[in-house]
Amino acid sequence: MKILVINCGSSSLKYQLIDMDNEQVIAKGLCERIGIAGSHIEGKTFDGREYAADPDLPDHTTAFSYVKDALLEGDCKVIDSLDEITAIGHRVVQGGAVYNQSVMVTPEVIREIDKLSALAPLHNPAHIQGINACTEVFGNLKPQVVVFDNAFHSTMPKYAYSFAIPQDLAEKHQCRKYGAHGTSHKYLVERYAEMKGISLEGTKIITCHLGNGSSITAVKDGKCIDTSMGITPLDGLIMGTRSGCIDASAVTYLQQHEGWTPEETSEFLNKKCGLLGVSGFSSDMRDNIDARDKGDENAKLATDMLFYQIRKFIGSYVAAMNGVDAIIFAGGIGENSIPTREAVVSELGWLGIKLDAEANDCRGKEIKISTDDSAVEVWVIPTNEELAIARDTKRLVEAQ
Ligand code: AMP
Repeated sequence: MKILVINCGSSSLKYQLIDMDNEQVIAKGLCERIGIAGSHIEGKTFDGREYAADPDLPDHTTAFSYVKDALLEGDCKVIDSLDEITAIGHRVVQGGAVYNQSVMVTPEVIREIDKLSALAPLHNPAHIQGINACTEVFGNLKPQVVVFDNAFHSTMPKYAYSFAIPQDLAEKHQCRKYGAHGTSHKYLVERYAEMKGISLEGTKIITCHLGNGSSITAVKDGKCIDTSMGITPLDGLIMGTRSGCIDASAVTYLQQHEGWTPEETSEFLNKKCGLLGVSGFSSDMRDNIDARDKGDENAKLATDMLFYQIRKFIGSYVAAMNGVDAIIFAGGIGENSIPTREAVVSELGWLGIKLDAEANDCRGKEIKISTDDSAVEVWVIPTNEELAIARDTKRLVEAQ
């Protein structure tokens, strides 16, 4: 069975065609700057063939046509007919409190995703555009599935996801913590259990997805009980350009004194803060670590803040679960930044954790980085959200 996985943003489209018999990627690629000058497409196949071009991409439908052509024709052809693709799985950022699991696409589901756009104005409308364009190009007989980023977090208890505001107001505006990166956190715990050959029942795991956007999740018995992101992906850790946790009165204080509109405040917190805001020059962790090592004080502050906040979240989730069996690092920073893992784990000795410095000296591979006598296992597991989406798509299509 071949599944096409789609991740649509407002101006981008990423795809992967996955053979579910062996879970290998057959082809993958992306279309950038859809609807903007300077559009670009590129992709590669499992056997190393590559393509790149700069066609005009006025809309998502045109982008999907190029994806279809890349799969069916030319030097990077990987299938003879669209019939070889059994189903299509779409990533959707916000399913609100409506969806606690993946579902088949229906007109009703599209309407619900649209209604939830207020909670994810940058993402949900783009996902709908993507689903509609995909249907136009691939035909409406192909089963499509939506996999929600926050579904894995739907098991949080009410005391964990509620804000301390009047509850009638919270209900009226659906104002609560939803979390994000759920597909990644779910993949990580399931992969851990698979590698260990254990059931998740009885386990306490903390998953750290650290990238340009970062979140940490407490997972007990395989179920999320708390996560660091909130109503939107702004909350929690300091990120590339997002502030993470910030006293709400600091926000209203800045808004008043700078004379910002709510939109300007949101733009500031989402795009101009985080590593970029603190360092003053880059949202990229590599740049910040390099600059810190050359003596840049602001870069040192930015990286120290991230290390400290990761430790604080881990500590609070150990308390929330009354223990921890394993900590997992993933995402661009979690998988690749040796100094980040070192700085975080070396200060967790109070948990009986011992870092294996030699094992930690690695990038992008699945490996245990704690010593055998460490009281808690620490792992690096490269995340694979596309595979998780493909697995859910397969499961739903087979259950039909
Ligand atoms: P992601 O959003 O998951 O693609 O992660 C992007 C982040 O990962 C950026 O901050 C990158 O600087 C960071 N990253 C990637 N490779 C490394 C590395 N070798 N060392 C430190 N950070 C890295």
